[in-house]
Amino acid sequence: MRRQLTALAALALTAAAVTVAAQQVSSTSTAAAADQEFVVATALTVDDLLGGSESTANTTSAATATTDTACTDTTYVAKAWRVTGTWTWYYNGTGAPAAVANTALATITSAGDTVSTGANRCGLPANLATVFKYAGTATAKPQIGTDLSCTGNDGKSVTGWGALPAKVLAYTCTYYNSKGVVTASDVLIDNVAYTWFTTKPATCTGAQYDLQTTMTHERLHTAGLGHVDQTANAAQVMTPASAPCDTSRRLLGAGDYAGLKALAARK
Ligand SMILES: [Zn+2]
Repeated sequence: MRRQLTALAALALTAAAVTVAAQQVSSTSTAAAADQEFVVATALTVDDLLGGSESTANTTSAATATTDTACTDTTYVAKAWRVTGTWTWYYNGTGAPAAVANTALATITSAGDTVSTGANRCGLPANLATVFKYAGTATAKPQIGTDLSCTGNDGKSVTGWGALPAKVLAYTCTYYNSKGVVTASDVLIDNVAYTWFTTKPATCTGAQYDLQTTMTHERLHTAGLGHVDQTANAAQVMTPASAPCDTSRRLLGAGDYAGLKALAARK
């Protein structure tokens, strides 16, 4: 029997926008290991180091670093959980911004496929064996509070839209069992503070963010990866923060890819 667990993911937002919250919450009882469940929460934030004018953001963002290190930097952080076999998810389009309402689902699906197969910028084989299966729309909402709390696990993995605190673009709550296998993972994407695009505007200005990049990042969290260093690993998808208008990290870098390979090889 599944035990009802609640978790409060305390999170500190710093000026550097490094916001990771990873708590393990287990049953306080002496239940069998198979009944234990863990929850973790992870966020992708706005890179306010790159804030200010958009031209500055574009010239100093990952675009420069990508050329140098996307395929040579193999840094990754593997967490305690991973996806094995097929992970099934649902979409709740309620609250989707009008600009992306018609394209968000396809973009989110594509981002998931990038992670499940290992599609990358480095010519490495996209041959990972996991499947991120879209199973339809849901009326259930992502169980994520506007205060970045993981509010429960109904066993259904839902990606949807809602309000998040300042600087947080999207937030993922992932549940996994005692074997380290993901049982559910919800994602909440901000629909208040930031403007999203699925096709980069010819002139990209202001706080506009690429939904595909963001969702590739969130799906990598679900897959079992944590954050790497914002500066040293700037070309990888798993930096904690993103810059506006940046589309250079829609596909995996060498570190992201190496991380998925390591997770797949985990016994
Ligand atoms: Zn993140």
